[in-house]
Amino acid sequence: MGAMNDADLLGQLDASCERVAARLREDSALSDARGAYLLRRSRSDLARVLHAQRFAAARGKLRPLATELSFGMGADGREQKDLEALEIWTPNGRRVLVRGYIDRVDVAEVADELLGVVVDYKRTRDKRLDVSMVYHGLSLQLLGYLIALAQRGETLTGRKLRPIAALYVSSMMKYELVEHPSKAKVSEAGAGTFRPRGMLRQDDLPVLDDVPSGSRSPVYNVAIKKDGDLAHADRSDAAGSANFSDMLAHVEGKVGEFADRILDGAVEVNPYRLGDASPCSWCPMQGVCRFEMGLSDVRFLDRLKRSDVFARVSTRVGPGTPIRSDAMHGSSLKG
Ligand code: SF4
Repeated sequence: MGAMNDADLLGQLDASCERVAARLREDSALSDARGAYLLRRSRSDLARVLHAQRFAAARGKLRPLATELSFGMGADGREQKDLEALEIWTPNGRRVLVRGYIDRVDVAEVADELLGVVVDYKRTRDKRLDVSMVYHGLSLQLLGYLIALAQRGETLTGRKLRPIAALYVSSMMKYELVEHPSKAKVSEAGAGTFRPRGMLRQDDLPVLDDVPSGSRSPVYNVAIKKDGDLAHADRSDAAGSANFSDMLAHVEGKVGEFADRILDGAVEVNPYRLGDASPCSWCPMQGVCRFEMGLSDVRFLDRLKRSDVFARVSTRVGPGTPIRSDAMHGSSLKG
């Protein structure tokens, strides 16, 4: 990525778009003006994302190692898989295998360690990791990928990988308020339009972006105070070492807990409400479901600040807890 100039990069993007367009034409999906417009629009969105990713890569030591990395399953249903399934032991002593795909894995070699980051692309605007949702077990996928990488990444590199960040990369620009369309300007990547969002281990921030004290990262949602402490900790994507490993341990515990519930046949209708969010608003079963919001019991979940989540998770799993699957494989995430 670092060796290519902008013209090379855009040339490759055009070639990829042309390959996709040819396939879509064959399938008659591009026969109308709307299809052609969508392709043009996607191409310009992707060009901006590429520019932002290039900018991010230049700030840190990470380099992409794999894309579309499967664990526990082969691509397109094939048997061949990149990594073994994530293995989790449930609170009731069951061994559960979890499978999935990781969009991208980046690595950096620092001292004698190999550090790993998972990236999840989202066709959305400004996707963030809501730690309240993670705490309640409603958003386990992104950090689950990181646990899979910690447990199974050795297959990829021949060396143990220590996970340092899990990040969403949105592919659509954030909306900006402008007085008139003629006054709209295309934001540069450095201004945060395609800022990768998620959770990163604060001690390893220099691997992603060496942010000097008293400044904020132009790439990640992290600012460092003059005394070296994290600024705006409740809004930052950085987490202290103990909090970071506690969150991974919590996610692993939640996956195990839910696996037990599924295997024990817990299928009662019991939707949650977190602020304005409820699964009923997008549930395809709404037309036939007899649950009535406002009349039936609903599980009200607390919307928590990041610091409250860290405090609760630390109490639940014990401060600085290594993820259990990783501990079973002989390494600790404890900072
Ligand atoms: S509509 Fe019914 S089935 Fe769907 S989430 Fe709500 S309670 Fe559950």
